[in-house]
Amino acid sequence: TPAKRYGVIGHPIEHSRSPHIHTQFASQFNLALSYERILAPLDGFAATVEEFFKNGSGLNVTLPFKEQAYDLVGPRLSRRARMAGAVNTLWLEDGQLHGCNTDGVGLCSDLLRIGHKPEGKRILLIGAGGASRGVVFPLLEAGCEMLHIINRTSAKAYDIREQVVALDPDASRRLSAGGLDDHCGDWDIVINATSASLNQNLPELPNARYRSNSLAYDMFYASEPTAFMRAAEQAGATQSIDGLGMLVGQAAASFQIWHGVKADVEPVLAKLRQEIGQV
Ligand code: NDP
Repeated sequence: TPAKRYGVIGHPIEHSRSPHIHTQFASQFNLALSYERILAPLDGFAATVEEFFKNGSGLNVTLPFKEQAYDLVGPRLSRRARMAGAVNTLWLEDGQLHGCNTDGVGLCSDLLRIGHKPEGKRILLIGAGGASRGVVFPLLEAGCEMLHIINRTSAKAYDIREQVVALDPDASRRLSAGGLDDHCGDWDIVINATSASLNQNLPELPNARYRSNSLAYDMFYASEPTAFMRAAEQAGATQSIDGLGMLVGQAAASFQIWHGVKADVEPVLAKLRQEIGQV
């Protein structure tokens, strides 16, 4: 039988590291598979997915198609995907397309890996775009004590809260929202889920207070520590880290959905760090 076919679909797609990550996971289990980059035309996502699954087994979905993937899957969504309003992992079951979102699990597993489990923690989440929305429910599920979402456009933070509470009313006690200047209290974990780091910018975050043994987590990653990571350490964060572990973590969670086995994240992450020029 030919090797099973997997891939990542997006636009643009040439910089995706997913083929590399999944191929390394596969070699940990001596699995024969192919994993390709698939460029879908901006107006041709659904058609490209349909074509792929004529002989394909699983797809990761990246920008800008995660919401379209959510719509495509219809009712066959995992709870996490429903909470995120977006899908990054597709597969066929009984001939029908199913979808999940593993971004949030990827973040939570990375927090565990570095010794900052979300359970019982006060967490400040900055940003209210797709990445932020994807991690809210998994952080609540992981048992954080308090999750406060702030965003430059505060209405978007309130929207996320409202949508999550509508699906899970119990979340209302532990989930709050506001504008960027609304960050009263002190925090165990501060997560930057804005795209500001792309241009070495900072979200205009007035002095958030860090507790002892606190963590600043930037979802972005580059060869150097980001402006957010450096500012956070100066502001009193005990430790800061970038989002490369989240990237490998979400891939491992997709890999587990498709293949039923838990890949070893550490060696793949170490290799990626070398490749992007971090020592
Ligand atoms: P979106 O475009 O959906 O959202 C961008 C967010 O950033 C908005 O909340 C926006 O605020 C805010 N923002 C942008 N510039 C600034 C600024 N100068 N000051 C304050 N806020 C700002 O992006 P995504 O949610 O998809 O991605 C966010 C980041 O997360 C990116 O850097 C991306 O690379 C990273 N990411 C990392 C992943 C990983 O696995 N490590 C996975 C997914 C994303 P406003 O609403 O006011 O415009």
